[in-house]
Amino acid sequence: MIISGKDLSARLKAEMATRVAAYEKKYGRAPQLTVVLVGEDPGSVSYVTGKAKACEAVGIRNTTIRRPESISEEELLSIIGELNADDAVDGILVQLPLPRHIDENKVIAAIRKEKDVDGFHPLNVAALWMKQPCSLPCTPKGIIKLLKAAGVEIAGKRAVVVGRSNIVGLPVGKLLMDENATVTVAHSRTKDLAAVTRGAEILVVAIGRPKFVTADMVTNGTVVIDVGVNRNPETGKLCGDVDYAAVEPKASVITPVPGGVGPMTITCLMENTIECYLRTMEAR
Ligand code: NDP
Repeated sequence: MIISGKDLSARLKAEMATRVAAYEKKYGRAPQLTVVLVGEDPGSVSYVTGKAKACEAVGIRNTTIRRPESISEEELLSIIGELNADDAVDGILVQLPLPRHIDENKVIAAIRKEKDVDGFHPLNVAALWMKQPCSLPCTPKGIIKLLKAAGVEIAGKRAVVVGRSNIVGLPVGKLLMDENATVTVAHSRTKDLAAVTRGAEILVVAIGRPKFVTADMVTNGTVVIDVGVNRNPETGKLCGDVDYAAVEPKASVITPVPGGVGPMTITCLMENTIECYLRTMEAR
């Protein structure tokens, strides 16, 4: 079974659009997401364009503040300060990566945690690990939604996450644990990675290496979630971290790239923006 993140996203966005229209009537304005884009990295520009399109589909107002790569850290922090203070802005997203002269951690920490739609603020990260209400990071949240929509039973399963980044590997491991999976997190220093991945009933791969996971690394019947977004060095086309053609026949469930996890990340960003907006509106 191939899980289409694209189809699930389309369904979820349609549901959100109906809800947002009702909220707008009730609260007098639509949610607002403001994206800050520094520089013109083609990957970042394309992600920001995708986010703007999703906002339009859902009825979230969105603004992109574009600044050149030469912007100073101080100027960027001052933009964030203004957005933090602006009651009409519900969600703030600074597109990463930032140029080297800017301290990413400092910028993320400067965003008010109530407006941190990415779930990257240290207090939101802490809340995730302490099981308190917070903005969950979008990609891990989207992965859990995909698994549930595919009817995958997570509780009691052996889940292996390959990759331990702050934005994908670690939080998806935590969310799988919260769903009562028994989780192993593997990384570049893991010995005999293939033996570890073969032990997985649910395998999540987030490493950024094209077609790294081959058929011999997967046991028959495994649920395979491919987070990677890479350029295939031979064809130049997008591909995942999993050798899809070789692994798909062995997997019970698998996500394609593109059209798997990627659309769900953006859909969860929409959901997080609506949640931030609702928390503000309901507190009034
Ligand atoms: P990072 O580069 O931050 O982390 C990569 C992780 O993979 C590290 O923990 C690293 O281990 C591990 N790793 C690298 N090489 C190997 C290897 N040979 N064997 C085992 N582990 C390895 O990447 P991200 O987590 O940010 O992203 C991972 C991938 O997911 C990328 O392709 C990215 O584009 C994609 N992505 C997709 C999203 C989507 O919405 N679809 C969203 C975010 C990311 P170590 O810690 O030891 O260095």
